[in-house]
Amino acid sequence: MSDHIDLHNHSFSDKEFELDKQLRPLTFGDFKGQKQIVENLKVFVQAAKMRDEALDHVLLHGPPGLGKTTLANIIANELGVGFKLTSGPVLDKPGDLAGLLTNLEERDVLFIDEIHRLSPIVEEYLYSAMEDYKIDIMIDKGPSARSIQLELHAFTLIGATTRSGLLTSPLRARFGIKSHFEYYDLNILTGIVKRSAKILDVEINKESAVEIASRSRGTPRIVNALLRRVRDFAQVKGNGKIDMEITRFSLEALNIDKHGLDEMDNKILNTIIDKFKGGPVGITTISTAVGEDAGTIEEVYEPFLIKEGFIKRTPRGREVTELAYKHLGKVKYGDNPSLF
Ligand code: ADP
Repeated sequence: MSDHIDLHNHSFSDKEFELDKQLRPLTFGDFKGQKQIVENLKVFVQAAKMRDEALDHVLLHGPPGLGKTTLANIIANELGVGFKLTSGPVLDKPGDLAGLLTNLEERDVLFIDEIHRLSPIVEEYLYSAMEDYKIDIMIDKGPSARSIQLELHAFTLIGATTRSGLLTSPLRARFGIKSHFEYYDLNILTGIVKRSAKILDVEINKESAVEIASRSRGTPRIVNALLRRVRDFAQVKGNGKIDMEITRFSLEALNIDKHGLDEMDNKILNTIIDKFKGGPVGITTISTAVGEDAGTIEEVYEPFLIKEGFIKRTPRGREVTELAYKHLGKVKYGDNPSLF
């Protein structure tokens, strides 16, 4: 196998984080795609501003790298308010949450990433904060323990999750605005490649932009990571410009799948074909066979595989399509008489 780079990795080095920040759109106008979500949010943001009120709480759900954090940031920018960022697993004590909430200014946005991973006790505290802008905290221990109520400024909670299925219904019910992110289509991703190339000050032709976009699993984060790697190849192995030759060379060297599928996507397809004769097979059976949580397969992997036409949902389970056989260079069970 050639050098492997993990474009799907979510942990960034400091330098990558800085580069990532540089590429992040800051206004609704710069944010490409997810048209319906953006159009609706523009209205809600404008209405909240006209009424001088905090925007209703917003839940953004969808697979990783599609722009949930970016959009949360944009909402705060467009509202003209402060933005504080935290994540479900980091907030493990009610005190941490109380500290954050009491420090919010009027109408600020508090962004909680991976909100499905909040501990139940912290989640409980969030309910009254979201509903009445109040929080009860316990002071002292033992017999003198008592609870006092703190008034909070009106604020907007924006929660992001890749696994909306894991959210409890009381929490879900407290979000007035819920938006589901879809994978991006080729056109929009190509636009993102061009925009990022401009910011990174690298010349790229249209064909190469389309090629990079089509290998990026419908995901802006992957588009940007891939563009940066191709830019490296262009600088070191080429003349600094990104053309088809250097793009093909880089994609080959990076071992990027032709359709931009990642390891788990291919594992799911291979498993259905090799172990279950192409399906139909139930999601829990697939989950056990590939060693990944069934909900994650359903909410993160499957939507892309269905969108790109590799898998079909049938009443009896999931089935791979001709395209999956072709992509993996496999012969359909029963199609090659000499084998059976
Ligand atoms: P998520 O929070 O859904 O995991 P992020 O908001 O961190 O995703 O997005 C990852 C990166 O992809 C961002 O840094 C940004 O540069 C880029 N990005 C995401 N959505 C868009 C978009 N609609 N237009 C342009 N760039 C985007």
